[in-house]
Amino acid sequence: MADVLRACEGMEQTDKPEEADVILFNTCSIREKAEDKVFSDLGRARLLKQARPDLLIGVGGCVASQEGEAIVKRAPYVDVVFGPQTLHRLPELLARRERQSRPQVDISFPEIEKFDHLPPARVDGCSAFVSIMEGCSKYCSYCVVPYTRGDEVSRPFEDVLVEIAGLADQGVREVNLLGQNVNAYRGKMGDTAEIADFALLLEYVADIPGIERIRYTTSHPNEFTPRLIEAYVKIPKLVNHLHLPVQHGSDRILMAMKRGYTAMEYKSTVRKLRAIRPDLAMSSDFIVGFPGETEEEFEELLDFIEVAQLDRVGAFKYSPVEGAAANALPDHVDPHEQEDRLARLMYLQEEISAEKLAKKVGKTMTVLVDDVDEEGAVARSAADAPEIDGLVYINGADLEVGEFVTVKITDSDEHDLWGEVVRK
Ligand code: SAH
Ligand code: SF4
Repeated sequence: MADVLRACEGMEQTDKPEEADVILFNTCSIREKAEDKVFSDLGRARLLKQARPDLLIGVGGCVASQEGEAIVKRAPYVDVVFGPQTLHRLPELLARRERQSRPQVDISFPEIEKFDHLPPARVDGCSAFVSIMEGCSKYCSYCVVPYTRGDEVSRPFEDVLVEIAGLADQGVREVNLLGQNVNAYRGKMGDTAEIADFALLLEYVADIPGIERIRYTTSHPNEFTPRLIEAYVKIPKLVNHLHLPVQHGSDRILMAMKRGYTAMEYKSTVRKLRAIRPDLAMSSDFIVGFPGETEEEFEELLDFIEVAQLDRVGAFKYSPVEGAAANALPDHVDPHEQEDRLARLMYLQEEISAEKLAKKVGKTMTVLVDDVDEEGAVARSAADAPEIDGLVYINGADLEVGEFVTVKITDSDEHDLWGEVVRK
């Protein structure tokens, strides 16, 4: 949104709401009561608008997409409402708001149009994020994404490659390919009827001169094809980190979630990948307390975690979000029980993570400095998987933000590492 407004209107970002001409709320509806939070945030912006009537207020993202006109009904001082697929129309919506003197709502799904109208990805150091597809057509029973973002749409093959080649020319060395289900990518190739899959896209991206590392988020176990597994042999530039959400370890629950695979199938994918890349760091997401989850089924989930030996885990209590099919299932799990199961899961994973991180003590790694103060620095492991190694704390060294340094790991806990500089 900031990129779009900067490119079209020359607007600058500010951290001070009282100085802003436009205030935008980017909303997420994946879990919890997101609408309530939005309206309470809006209430504060309203006070600013009372003091300065020219202030424009906008609501974007998935809550906007779900609520649409209802937002303007409940908060008539809101000027524009736009969804994830119409954020490129922001300048036009703001202009129409001025011309017509009434709130503008556009939460349509104009599909591919958005990709053609976004300014080029802005670059953060030597990394860039590049969207390759949008939306989701999987309809897992607990999830609202397919309704708020629409079905899967892929960017044409050449468009993605041309954008990445341009980024590489500007000095980008690492790309992170983005999409709700990147391995559902089906990009049109030129004017032919041929379609490129994700594995082919990866091969072409790897061939772009200057691109040294390729990451992607998020992939889905169902489309983790033999071709994609094979990519881990053929493409050394693919980083040694994979986030592959599994959600549960019980087949009955996976079926009720409509995930479309069994726990065994997931484990088999992981086994094949680890056979190719023994150092592959893996993370996953889990939902606990799904409607009807019994104590036995939850224990199956714990067993799964024990066997899978993941490096990092995101775990969430089932949250009955508006519009999700699973809400109609019987036997919702009591919130205290959900809390308890979540704690048990996290406790088990902390033991596993602590053990994995402890194995890094004594090793050296290259890290990227993120923040410095009088006491020392906080850095991320840049070599393989920053989100996996957690943060690396460095005591007392005289370092600068953005600097790459080689550190020797001296200590660890269940989340993070500590190290000392051996080479700048
Ligand atoms: N496309 C990704 C997930 C995106 S949502 C996939 O299919 O795996 C990010 C995470 O939020 C999910 O992995 C899931 O664990 C969690 N999540 C989604 N809806 C949820 C809900 N209703 N309650 C609790 N967690 C949820
Ligand atoms: Fe939601 Fe399932 Fe799509 Fe992931 S694959 S975004 S969980 S519907």
